[in-house]
Amino acid sequence: METKKRVLIVGGVAAGASAAARLRRMDETCEIVLFDKGKYVSFANCGLPYYVGDVILDEKKLLLATPQLFQERFNIQVKVEHEVTKIDRAAKTIEVKSAQGVTREPYDVLLLAPGAAPLRPPLPGLDLPGIFVVRNIPDTRLIRGWIESKQAKRAVVVGAGFIGLEMAENLKLRGLEVTILEAGLQALPPLDPEMAVFVHQHLKKHGVDLQLGDPVASFVPTASGLSVRTKAGQAYGADLVIFSIGVKPETALAKAAGIELGSLGGIKVDDQMRTSDPSIFAVGDVVEVKDFVTGLGTLIPLAGPANRQGRLVADAIAGKPRSFRGVQATAVCGFFGLTAALTGATEKTLKRAGITDYGRVYLHPGNHAAYYPGAKPIHMKLLFDRKDGRVLGAQAVGEEGVEKRIDVLAMAIQMKAQVRDLEEAELCYAPQFGAAKDPINVAGMIASNLQRGDVVAAPWEGLADPGTRTILDVRDPQEFKAGHLDGAVNIPLNDLRARMGELDKSMEVWVNCGVGQRSYYAVRTLRQNGFNAQNLPGGYQTYRMFHPVD
Ligand code: FAD
Repeated sequence: METKKRVLIVGGVAAGASAAARLRRMDETCEIVLFDKGKYVSFANCGLPYYVGDVILDEKKLLLATPQLFQERFNIQVKVEHEVTKIDRAAKTIEVKSAQGVTREPYDVLLLAPGAAPLRPPLPGLDLPGIFVVRNIPDTRLIRGWIESKQAKRAVVVGAGFIGLEMAENLKLRGLEVTILEAGLQALPPLDPEMAVFVHQHLKKHGVDLQLGDPVASFVPTASGLSVRTKAGQAYGADLVIFSIGVKPETALAKAAGIELGSLGGIKVDDQMRTSDPSIFAVGDVVEVKDFVTGLGTLIPLAGPANRQGRLVADAIAGKPRSFRGVQATAVCGFFGLTAALTGATEKTLKRAGITDYGRVYLHPGNHAAYYPGAKPIHMKLLFDRKDGRVLGAQAVGEEGVEKRIDVLAMAIQMKAQVRDLEEAELCYAPQFGAAKDPINVAGMIASNLQRGDVVAAPWEGLADPGTRTILDVRDPQEFKAGHLDGAVNIPLNDLRARMGELDKSMEVWVNCGVGQRSYYAVRTLRQNGFNAQNLPGGYQTYRMFHPVD
């Protein structure tokens, strides 16, 4: 009698559950058993902060599928509260611990999808009651219960990453005072620092006390709750602490079994998600993947890649292999009405990868036509390869229309588009949705102008160097009076042709305006008149990103 192929899956949320369901669609004959040490599978971990904040009121809405549904619809056995504790690769078995005891389960194929665990450095007091991580539904129940039973009024969130900011918003929604303590010098570390300035300003505007650059050192119990102490000696009182400084791949099982890990600590896989053991695959937050833009190894703990990998690995196990393209780290975060999103490389990642020949543009367009009421600015940064114009990465922050632009750019990056493709992109337009020249087109136009050499960009960082140059501001006098760069001379754009004789042709002329449009016009005029004129990209709004005022 022919025996069925036995596929065992460790971890049943984003990557594991996707893989199980897809595998059944690809192969009706194999036996699929999914183990999760938690109480639930296939739950919406991305929705957890909103359950704490009472935005999602019914906990059941977080459960996307139940073990019963897996059994009835897909003929997949799901064993919750079953922890896989050991892999015996030689015998091709796993050891599983549950309330019923310890069992050994044989496999033909093993898929590891155990995710990533919250980082917990050895800080004194981190185990005290009232300090929580946010990883699963029971965690959120504990947090909700604590807020209610203690009538919590002050929360400290440690870490200003995606989860930290989402938790800050939701704790505020529950009426708590919120302080965020971040060890680094910026919130949302995946963004470039100047883009994070908008995040800082927005948190402040919404009453969140954001403290940067001072790592948390310890937690001390007090008569009224907890005191969070920092390295610099500050102390913050709290009734509740959310500890969210990041995650690390859950590699203990794989490591103990001698499965190869990558240099960043995730499980090493090939483009079909196969580990160093041909019978064992791995997907989701636990694996190290290839950065689509830089080609380097990276850890990207996001739901989209985990789901895509789950689907792809099922095809590989079913004998219909496809190749995983890598991850471009497209991510979005919303808090207090602000959206911050990014895709592909940032300047930080390019520098880390040793890629230096890139161009960058800044722009601050409205999310839709300015004449239609309610337009909101989007602050955008686009990075591209200076040689071939390929789009490398984009970041955007604003209140409306941010994720739409980043999604378009994410697709452009995946299709290896060049900036001239953005210039030519035909996107939907009516006044309430966009502009005839959409922000995507404008970003493409600015970048193409640079790439073709029609415009030269002056580096904002170069202002620190006193060098011999003229700083020309072409805004109107009242705008100039309200704030300008040190040492700038003011010749409004409309007067420039008549007054360009006042400028010294032997010096570089760095031109500034409000958002970089009038300065671009001025640069074109000056360059055609023999000046070495360069545009300060994104104008005074970008200057304020590099030199924020409180
Ligand atoms: P997980 O979804 O973490 O699942 C792993 C499962 O494996 C867990 O249930 C665990 O119990 C189980 N497991 C681990 N070890 C064992 C073992 N030895 N035996 C049995 N079972 C085991 N991503 C986004 O893209 N957008 C978002 O908005 C977003 N928001 C998030 C908000 C929060 C609060 C959290 C926690 C994450 C968020 N993420 C978000 C990240 C996203 O949820 C993860 O990237 C994704 O869930 C990873 O999928 P995974 O299957 O690899 O791991």
